[in-house]
Amino acid sequence: MDIRIGQGMDSHRTDKTRELVLGGVKIENDFGLLGHSDADVLLHAITDALLGSLALGDIGTHFPDTDERYKGADSAELLRSAYALVRERGYELVNLDCTVRTERPKLKPHIPAITKRISEILNVSADSVSVKAKTAEGLGDVGEGRAMEAYAVCLVKKVASCDAK
Ligand code: MG
Repeated sequence: MDIRIGQGMDSHRTDKTRELVLGGVKIENDFGLLGHSDADVLLHAITDALLGSLALGDIGTHFPDTDERYKGADSAELLRSAYALVRERGYELVNLDCTVRTERPKLKPHIPAITKRISEILNVSADSVSVKAKTAEGLGDVGEGRAMEAYAVCLVKKVASCDAK
């Protein structure tokens, strides 16, 4: 079988002193997300999904938050590095499907820009990237605005034979 599936999820606390970066796009908002890197919860979930598809560990294994090199890191770079590991093993992305859970801001107007940005980071066609947004109906940490969550599922297929590293 030359196709594999990966899934990833992430959550971050909201923080009024931070700017909001989601899917590699800066979004005007009165709060952002707390984290060692730029705290891009969506790109972190996608990074974990890609790493998971080839059983390559997780984002914390490759880019530990105890490492000063990743303080304030651009999560787009981390995602690019993770996808490079997938490509090195002869696989490429078939499609990616993601959901962001947040009460605010309304993400619908930002989805086209986010989708486009993710497809640019990964250098794949825009129709292989899907991003959806959900509220939590006011329930729990997400619903009460203390956290934001993201989920991602990806399919990868083998396109080249290469020696496993
Ligand atoms: Mg994270």
